[in-house]
Amino acid sequence: VIYREKVQGSLKETHLEVRTSSERPKADKDSGAIMVKNLYLACDPYNLHLIKFSTQLGSTVSGYGVARVLESGHPNFKKGDLVLGLTRWEEYSLITAPKTCFKIEHTDVPLSYYTGLLGMPGLTAYAGFFEVCSPKKGDTVFISAASGAVGQLVGQFAKLFGCYVVGSAGSKEKVDLLKNKFGFDDAFNYKEELDLDAALKRCFPEGIDIYFENVGGKMLDAVLPNMKLHGRITVCGMISQYNLEQHEGVHNLINLIWKRVRMEGFSVSDFYHLYPKFLEMVLPQIREGKIAYTEDIAEGLENGPAALVGVFSGRNIGKQVVVVSRK
Ligand code: NDP
Repeated sequence: VIYREKVQGSLKETHLEVRTSSERPKADKDSGAIMVKNLYLACDPYNLHLIKFSTQLGSTVSGYGVARVLESGHPNFKKGDLVLGLTRWEEYSLITAPKTCFKIEHTDVPLSYYTGLLGMPGLTAYAGFFEVCSPKKGDTVFISAASGAVGQLVGQFAKLFGCYVVGSAGSKEKVDLLKNKFGFDDAFNYKEELDLDAALKRCFPEGIDIYFENVGGKMLDAVLPNMKLHGRITVCGMISQYNLEQHEGVHNLINLIWKRVRMEGFSVSDFYHLYPKFLEMVLPQIREGKIAYTEDIAEGLENGPAALVGVFSGRNIGKQVVVVSRK
């Protein structure tokens, strides 16, 4: 999948192009590189960042994925290893800096989970909630884009931790998932609420201790006056702003002072060292059925561009994955 035309405004399928080629890269002995067959590719909002800021026109789109090593010129990897890391949207990739790759050790869970629940979004939910939100049992927690890859996990981690959890999402089906599959205490469809402030007051009559921010814009403005004294706003993402040429302003920031709220952004890349600890916590939870997970599967690389574009309009229900090959 090639970056064909410069993105201005919203990402569209026409910015990308699926091309076929008979070339297959090679990883020479002792080159430090690995050549992999890509199996599952993640559609993350981060792909747009990579496209806009670090992909040249005419080059292959990159992003997180699960792959199998076919040739290794690196001492830490051997033929047959399964890896999770930054790869390219193509059938076979040469990864020249495999330090961005983790070897997959646990294969009793679906491999595609390593694009989401057990991959970068899962670690984002874990680090964002436990390391940045400073949660306490009984805290009231609000999560936007709650049915997505990160949101569905933050909500479940917060529930298991003993918090009261409410999420917002963009359709009735997603709201049902939040309440009935992921165990949220309450949820609402932000597209149908005429007054976001009233919806938040209905769900949090006493106010919000923790806001896990995924969307920004109007939602952030509505949340600010509903924060409790000494509340925490953890800024994970602002997806409503990514496709705008000019970012929207926020009007209610003064509440940070009045309510003594701590608002803190974070990047998962600062927490990669916690990946083993995260797996230690989450793998047993998955095996014991304590964590539910929903994926939205697009079959075939040729359906990748539409799947990626869909993430920015909420077409995905759960983690959007592109299957390149199942073996
Ligand atoms: P999702 O799987 O949640 O997909 C994105 C979802 O965002 C869509 O399904 C849609 O759900 C919602 N959305 C899309 N456009 C808008 C909009 N204009 N306004 C409101 N909601 C919108 O993605 P992830 O779970 O992977 O990512 C969630 C957030 O976390 C993103 O902001 C992402 O950038 C951020 N992130 C940050 C990281 C970090 O290190 N700080 C790492 C990983 C992710 P709906 O139908 O509910 O609108």
